[in-house]
Amino acid sequence: MTTPTLQNYHGSLKQALGDDFLRQTLDNFAVQYRANRQLIFADVNEKGLIAEIAESKEASLDHLEELYAQFREQAAKKGITVHRAATAKEAQELVCQLAKDYDCKKIIKSKSMTAEEIHLNHALIEAGLEVTETDLGEWIIQLRHEGPSHMVMPAIHLSRYQVADVFTEATKTNQDSDISLLVKVARQELRAKFVEADMGISGANFAIAETGTFAICTNEGNGRLTTTLPRVHVAICGIDKLVPTLHDALRVIKVLPRNATAQAITTYVSWITGALECQRTGTGQEKKLHIIFLDNGRSDLIKDTKCRQALRCVRCGACANLCPVFRLVGGHRMGYVYIGAIGLILTYFFHGHERAKVLAQNCIGCETCKDICAAGIDLPTVIQEIRARLNEEYGSTMDSALLGKVLQNRKLFHTLLKFGKWAQLPVKKGRYIRHLPDIFAPYQGFRALPAIADKAFRDLWPSIKPPEAPGALKIGVFAGCAQDFIYPRHLKAAVDILARLKVNLEFPETQSCCGLPVQMMGQRQAAIATAKGNIEAFQPFAPDYIVTLCASCASHIKSHYADLLAKENLGEQVKAFTDKIIDFSSLLTDVLKVKPETFVNNQERVGYHYPCHLIRGLGVVEAPKTLLGMSGQYLPSQEEDSCCGFGGTYSMKFPEISGVILENKLKRFEEAGVTCLVTDCPGCFMQLDGGAQRKGGKLKVEHMSEFLARHLAK
Ligand code: SF4
Ligand code: SF4
Repeated sequence: MTTPTLQNYHGSLKQALGDDFLRQTLDNFAVQYRANRQLIFADVNEKGLIAEIAESKEASLDHLEELYAQFREQAAKKGITVHRAATAKEAQELVCQLAKDYDCKKIIKSKSMTAEEIHLNHALIEAGLEVTETDLGEWIIQLRHEGPSHMVMPAIHLSRYQVADVFTEATKTNQDSDISLLVKVARQELRAKFVEADMGISGANFAIAETGTFAICTNEGNGRLTTTLPRVHVAICGIDKLVPTLHDALRVIKVLPRNATAQAITTYVSWITGALECQRTGTGQEKKLHIIFLDNGRSDLIKDTKCRQALRCVRCGACANLCPVFRLVGGHRMGYVYIGAIGLILTYFFHGHERAKVLAQNCIGCETCKDICAAGIDLPTVIQEIRARLNEEYGSTMDSALLGKVLQNRKLFHTLLKFGKWAQLPVKKGRYIRHLPDIFAPYQGFRALPAIADKAFRDLWPSIKPPEAPGALKIGVFAGCAQDFIYPRHLKAAVDILARLKVNLEFPETQSCCGLPVQMMGQRQAAIATAKGNIEAFQPFAPDYIVTLCASCASHIKSHYADLLAKENLGEQVKAFTDKIIDFSSLLTDVLKVKPETFVNNQERVGYHYPCHLIRGLGVVEAPKTLLGMSGQYLPSQEEDSCCGFGGTYSMKFPEISGVILENKLKRFEEAGVTCLVTDCPGCFMQLDGGAQRKGGKLKVEHMSEFLARHLAK
C-alpha cells in the first residue's frame, strides 16, 4: 500500500464525505451509542474504574518482563508453548512454521487486531495456506480484500446491499439483502470451514501471568469454534496484554464491552488455561496450543515517557465512536490498521513514521476521545507529541514553520496583525472579509471570515480600564490573540460586567498568543517561547485570578504549560500562573457569585455551544447554563457539547471536514428553536458566527460576555 500524500489524502476524504450511507450510518451509531453508553455505565463508577485500569496497566508495563516470565512458566506447566516475536515478520514466520510443522493446510481465524497489525493473512496466503476469517464482519472485509474500518465493528462502513453483493459473488448465487438471510448464508458457508480446519488462530484480550490463562471477548460463537475445533490453536497477543491477575482482567471486562458497544458483557468471554483442558478434536490427536507474544516496537514504546500510555489501550474502539472526524469519514481514512485516535498514534509506532505523517494531522483536538477512553489515555496530547516529532523528523510545512517563527516574536506578531488591519481594507465589509479568492484561503467558503478589528483590545484598554476598587479581588485579563485583535468587543463586554461587579482589573501588555496554534502544529519551540513570555508578562501584577474568555487558551495553559516548560527552570512560577487561570463563566458563578438580579431576563431563546476545551479541557459544565438561565431562556440542544469543527488551524487544513461538522452543528440549534447561540471561545465563535452569516445571518451568535452585557441590569 502506498503512503498517502496530503493531496491524495484530501481526495480520499472528499470521496468518503460523498458517501451518504457511510456518514448516516456512523452518525446514527454515534447518537445511539452515546445514549446507550450513558445507561450502561449508570450502575458502575465509570471514572473510578477507568482510573484503576490506567493505574494497573501502567504497573503492568513497569513489570512486563517479569509478567512474561511468569506467564511462560505457568503456561508451560499446562501444555501451552509460549513464543515471543520481536517483529511483525518474525510473528508471521512463526505462524507459517507452526502450520508447516503440524501439516496444516486450512486455517480459520477469529477476530484479532494483532493479526491485522502484522498482516498475517497476506503472509499465510503467500505461504500457500487457505485462510478464512470467521467473524462475520471480518469475513465480509476479507471477501472485499480490505482492512477493518473499526476495531470492533470491522464492516460498519458497508450497507446490507453491499454485503449482499459480496455474498452473491462469493457463493455464485443471488443473495437477498435481508440481514437475517445474510447471516444464514455466512453461517452455512463458514460451518464447513470450521469442520475442515487444521489450525485455528485467535487473538487474546488478556494474558494472565499468575495462571498462564488467556481470554477472548467476542459476540459471535466463532471464537469458541476457532479455539476448540481445529487440532492446532495459535493465539497472537501483544505483550502489552499481559496482566498480573484474574482480578486485573475482570476489571477491564467491566469497562471494555460497556465502552465498546454499550453492552454490560460480551456474549462470550472464553478463558483458556492449558492445552490439556481444551476440547479434543475427535481425531484422536492431542490438541496443540501455542501463544505468540508480539513486541513490534512495544518494548521501545514502554521507555517513551510521553507516549507509552498508548500501550494501556484495551482495543475497545470507543475513541473512534464519537470522534467528529471518524463520524464523517470512517476508519479507512482515519488510521492505517488501527483506527480512530489510537489509530493515529499506533500507525506511527507500529507501521512507520512516514505512513503517520499525513494521518496525524487529521485530529481537531476536541478531546472527545480522551473523555471516553477506557484506559484513561490522553490521546490528543499524544497525537500532538507525534506531530511535533514528525515536524522534527521531516521538517515543517512552510505555513506552520512561518507561524512558529512569527509567534515566537511578540512584537513582530502584533505588528503583522496591525498591518493586516490596513491590508484587509479592499476586501473588508463591516465586521467580515468579503469572499477571498481560493489562493488566499482555499475552500473557506463555508463560513464568513472575520475582519481584524479597527482597534485592538490592547489599544482600547487605557480608555476602558475601570477605576480601582480598594480591597477587591485583583484579576488579570489574558486576552488571547483572537480576542485581542479580532474580537476586542468580547473583552470590552467582559470589562463592562466585571467593572459592575467591582473588581480590580489588570491587562499586562507584553502578553501574547497562548501558543496553542503552534502546539497543535507541532511547533514545540514556538509553543515554549510563547508560554514563557506570558508567565513573565503577568509576573509583576500578582493577580488573584487570571481570567480568559477563550476556553482554548485556558485549557492549553492549564494542561500543557507545565510540561512545555519542564526544562526551563522556572520553579514555582509555572504552577502559580496556571493555577490562577480561570474561564469567564466560572469566574462569574464560582468566584464572583453573580445573582439573577445582576441581569434583566427577557426570556430570549438562547442555546449554548460548549467549547471542547471548556467542557472536556476544563471540566466546566454548569456555569454557562446557570448564567444563561439567569439572563435568558436556555434551550438545550442535541449534541451541544460536540465539536463545532474549528480546531484552530484544523479548519484551514481540512475545510472539507470542518464545513460539514459546522453545518450539522448549526442545524441542531435551529431544530431546537434558539434565536441566539452563545459560546465561550473565540475560535468556536468564529466558526459558528461565520457559518450562521453564510446561511443568511438569521441565527445570532454571541460570546457569553456579549450576551450577558446585553442583559446587564441598569
Ligand atoms: S481529539 Fe477529537 S478529533 Fe482528535 S482524535 Fe480525538 S476525538 Fe478525534
Ligand atoms: S485508546 Fe482508549 S478508547 Fe481507544 S480503543 Fe484504546 S482503550 Fe479504547
